[in-house]
Amino acid sequence: EAERRGLDLRFEGDDATPPLWTDPGKVRQILLNLIGNAIKFTKEGGIAVAVDCDRSASEDFQIHVRDTGPGIAPEEQQRIFQPFTQADYSHSRSAGGTGLGLAIALTVARLLGGDIALQSTPGEGSTFTLHLPSLNEKGR
Ligand code: ADP
Repeated sequence: EAERRGLDLRFEGDDATPPLWTDPGKVRQILLNLIGNAIKFTKEGGIAVAVDCDRSASEDFQIHVRDTGPGIAPEEQQRIFQPFTQADYSHSRSAGGTGLGLAIALTVARLLGGDIALQSTPGEGSTFTLHLPSLNEKGR
């Protein structure tokens, strides 16, 4: 889809990143939503997905999904995580969607013991950061 829209989609990893023990199906759902939105709302430029692991904080993983899209106004940044809510710009309406994706992604992230944070500057782009704790190999 990124290719079809002429957008650059990059993954930035690091071979030294330790394994993340979590529910892979649920993480896939969350990332499909965040990356899907980034592709849907970005007209020019691209999307970068980067993984960081803070070993000092008991292996807290951060997966950043960064785009060069329209950005999200400060007053919308909390609202868009609520069910059936879209930011108030015509682009969201014309892009379709239900306004449910982020609400579900946040619920699933919290079920995994994590969270989703948003940093965005209107006119420049958005970065959604999925924070995830790594479980140990026994799943606890
Ligand atoms: P949907 O994509 O179905 O509208 P979501 O819950 O996934 O629902 O997103 C809610 C709203 O948040 C979107 O309609 C859009 O207004 C805003 N949004 C989400 N991701 C981005 C993004 N990467 N860039 C700009 N706006 C975004």
